[in-house]
Amino acid sequence: MKLKIGHTRYVIRTMSDDDEAEGIANGYVLPDKGLIVVSATVPATRQLETLLHEIIHAGLHEYGHASWNDEAVVGPLGCALAAIILDNKGLLPVLMALREGAGFLEGSK
Ligand SMILES: [Zn+2]
Repeated sequence: MKLKIGHTRYVIRTMSDDDEAEGIANGYVLPDKGLIVVSATVPATRQLETLLHEIIHAGLHEYGHASWNDEAVVGPLGCALAAIILDNKGLLPVLMALREGAGFLEGSK
């Protein structure tokens, strides 16, 4: 999978055996290589949290935020965003509709 974050296209892939052997927790991001890696051996919810966490790192990096690699900043943002998505199943369809230019309130166009 690929994601465009800022001006960079990131490749999203699962962790390799080498990553697992190095004891990398659940994922990482390499902004200069346009790479986000997420463990496939953890539950799907944890994969979602990790993917969002790494996307936030990448987004902050792409937009020049000095704290892009500060876990004290990224950690709570990732957890909050994951919880919002997990707790509100109707949110993603609304976001997709808004992305396509449709309002989520009838007649809001
Ligand atoms: Zn992190």
